[in-house]
Amino acid sequence: MKFYQPTSIREYFELSSSLTDKTAMLLAGGTDLMPRFERGEILPDHLIDLKKLSDLYQVIVRDEFIQIGALTSIQTLAENQLLRNEFTAIQMAAHDFAGAQIRHRGTIGGNIVNASPAGDLLPGLYAFGATLTLIGQASERQVAIQDFILGPGKTALKPHEILVAIRLDRNHFESSFQKVGLRQSMAISVVNLAFVYLKKGEVYQHLKIACGAVAPTVVALDKLTSTIMDKTSKPEDWSQLIEADISPIDDIRATARYRKLVIPNLVKAFLNGKLYE
Ligand SMILES: Cc1cc2nc3c(=O)[nH]c(=O)nc-3n(C[C@H](O)[C@H](O)[C@H](O)COP(=O)(O)OP(=O)(O)OC[C@H]3O[C@@H](n4cnc5c(N)ncnc54)[C@H](O)[C@@H]3O)c2cc1C
Repeated sequence: MKFYQPTSIREYFELSSSLTDKTAMLLAGGTDLMPRFERGEILPDHLIDLKKLSDLYQVIVRDEFIQIGALTSIQTLAENQLLRNEFTAIQMAAHDFAGAQIRHRGTIGGNIVNASPAGDLLPGLYAFGATLTLIGQASERQVAIQDFILGPGKTALKPHEILVAIRLDRNHFESSFQKVGLRQSMAISVVNLAFVYLKKGEVYQHLKIACGAVAPTVVALDKLTSTIMDKTSKPEDWSQLIEADISPIDDIRATARYRKLVIPNLVKAFLNGKLYE
């Protein structure tokens, strides 16, 4: 296996276009990729380390949005004051993520492109409607996160394309994040949820709930939230509306039955204002 470290995006494209005959893989923090290699996954012919692409570390703040470079570490997200104030669910997910070593090494771009149904940043990114900027050899495109992640480990990334940035619109919504794991930290989520909302008195003017590890990709509980917003559902309908959107499976961390119980319980606790009681 040959190892490369391009120092500019132009250099990256020159390199990647010259490697079309063999398998090439991209490396960011390596916290997903390296364990996969250790478990016996076949090594690529070429490994391209993105870490010297300085543009991918930029965090740009404008009045209307924040744009986060794909190589931004999970630890940087956990410490970011604007995320804490305006995108609390994402900051909380970063704070609850793994241990310090993985948080310093792992990146937001890696969490997205790895496309694990249990990725902790994903529910918040879905619920806030994140848009991804992907650049290819001759073009740049913007893709909504739910159109980018296609299934476990599957994305819409085209050959040679890289994820450069994640954009979040600053709508001043409130939000929170909940993770259920087999232990408090250093555990992959059994389920995870992000709640993003704007509430005036008892009325939701905006409500998005996204859950991870309950389907092949993160799901937004739109059947539930749309009927709460237009006041066509009652609390006794909520469990059924939630179940209509999720399709969990048994795995080594939990059974489908457990996940089907815990998601409605957490969602109802949130809607009843009792999530942390
Ligand atoms: C001990 C341990 C604990 C963990 N705990 C958690 C946890 O609590 N929550 C959680 O969600 N995850 C957890 N993970 C998984 C992992 O740390 C995260 O998914 C992390 O965000 C991956 O980022 P990375 O930069 O290390 O990705 P990498 O391993 O470098 O890459 C992952 C994939 O993304 C691709 N990729 C990366 N960046 C780009 C880019 N910019 N453009 C195109 N493709 C790209 C790579 O080619 C690869 O396919 C844990 C892992 C370990 C080993």
